[in-house]
Amino acid sequence: MKVESQRLRNCPACGASAVEDRGEKNGFPIVSCRNCGTLYASCLPDESNAQDYDDYYTPRNLSVPDFIQRRIEEIVAGFSSYRLQNRLLELGFGEGSLLRAAARAGWDVEGIEVSRTAVEHVRAYGLNAFCGELSDASYADASFDVVMASELLEHVTDPQRMLKEVARILRKGGLFWATTPNGRGMSARLLGIKWSVNSPPEHLHLFSSRGVAKLLTDAGFERVRIITHGVNPFEIWQALRKSARSNGNASACTGCERVESGYQLNEALLRSRSRRALKNMMNGLLKVSHLGDSLKIRAER
Ligand SMILES: [Zn+2]
Repeated sequence: MKVESQRLRNCPACGASAVEDRGEKNGFPIVSCRNCGTLYASCLPDESNAQDYDDYYTPRNLSVPDFIQRRIEEIVAGFSSYRLQNRLLELGFGEGSLLRAAARAGWDVEGIEVSRTAVEHVRAYGLNAFCGELSDASYADASFDVVMASELLEHVTDPQRMLKEVARILRKGGLFWATTPNGRGMSARLLGIKWSVNSPPEHLHLFSSRGVAKLLTDAGFERVRIITHGVNPFEIWQALRKSARSNGNASACTGCERVESGYQLNEALLRSRSRRALKNMMNGLLKVSHLGDSLKIRAER
């Protein structure tokens, strides 16, 4: 895929224009911001090469393994201190397990998704879902206690605009909770553009924690807390092995392989007590070193 219209953009996190060229991925020039370290496609896809999300979800990826389900229940339990109006919204709910867990925990839930298949999937459970973009949903000011966005910020073409809208619909003191890949984590540093997560037009920007903190503060959030977590050594190992063989531009692995290998690794790590201890220690180290591959974000309105 070749990008024809080279509409260069400033850093989507901090707005700076000074960048370092990092190469090309799927026909998109990739740069890193010299100010905040965010890794991003310097031009956005147009209609001809934008990611089509209508067929993004299939019956195969509309279910999650048990250990993730348990983690999801814990995440939802962490929102209970914000319950005032009892209203919770999830942006880009995908297979919908977070939304369903929140509904089971007694929240009045709403969901927004661009994928028609995913919307029909959660409506079958009796949940309220809007098919489209947040800007089209027209929610009232301050109408939610919690807004969640799991692995979404890296997909949206204008994250600043989306976050300002989130700030508008959250009540004062309400919580924005999100996860997104870390553009300055272990895999981004070791693999650069070969990291499979670096995948325009699907993923347009991989924020640094400094970059996403600036983005949130500018959008009107306070008490921004970001931790990093998780790496997938399988992909790093596979990519280093592949590049030793070929010097190739190929991705370390495809998106599906990445998710599958991450699941297998997690299951292996959860199987015995000593492995669980190892996993907890690794996550502790990643948290203090800020080198985890995922950013976990909590910010209050
Ligand atoms: Zn920046």
